Amino acid sequence: TKFEALGLNKPLLNAVADMGFETPSEVQEKAIPILLKEETDLVALAQTGTGKTAAFGFPLIQKLDQNSRTTQGLILSPTRELCLQITKEIQSYSKYVKGVNTVAIYGGASITDQARQIKRGAQIVVATPGRMKDMIGRGLVDISKIDYCILDEADEMLNMGFYEDIKEILSNTPKEKSTWLFSATMPKEVSKIAKKFMDSPVEITV
Ligand code: AMP
Repeated sequence: TKFEALGLNKPLLNAVADMGFETPSEVQEKAIPILLKEETDLVALAQTGTGKTAAFGFPLIQKLDQNSRTTQGLILSPTRELCLQITKEIQSYSKYVKGVNTVAIYGGASITDQARQIKRGAQIVVATPGRMKDMIGRGLVDISKIDYCILDEADEMLNMGFYEDIKEILSNTPKEKSTWLFSATMPKEVSKIAKKFMDSPVEITV
């Protein structure tokens, strides 16, 4: 299939088939081969509905160390709805990959329950900035060893006033990691984040 040509492995291709995806979307076609092949930062200008969750989700899942229970990937998203939607999608994509646990962290729900899920081992954490910062502050989640950090709908997160939270969260991540930023628009604030926190990112536009 066309997904095979992007470099996806068998467990992911099986999930793609289950989802009924036939052709990669443009952002998937542009982002997946790069993210699979290189350890690079990425800035992608892409609207919602373009298939961007799979564009970062597939490479993230494929590159994880299944044998480690450490949190390796962090996805930040602006709202609880989006956070839950991304979590569900990542869980579907990773259904044939053994040992991958994805946990959603967001405000307005029990922090104790979320902390318990993290404690059981979460290679991927999908979070809204406020709750994430809170849980880091309380020592309930450890992102000091992540390899991948994804900022989804970066423009929305900044519009909602999450800049300081994001800064604080990123200061708890290691220097040597890849950061993938997705945004529908590229206002000054988003470029500023890219400049401050990313290292010569590859840029794609769809
Ligand atoms: P997103 O832009 O990531 O929110 O994705 C929008 C919707 O498109 C989601 O419901 C995905 O499951 C679906 N989708 C993602 N990639 C594909 C694809 N290659 N073919 C068909 N549907 C897709």
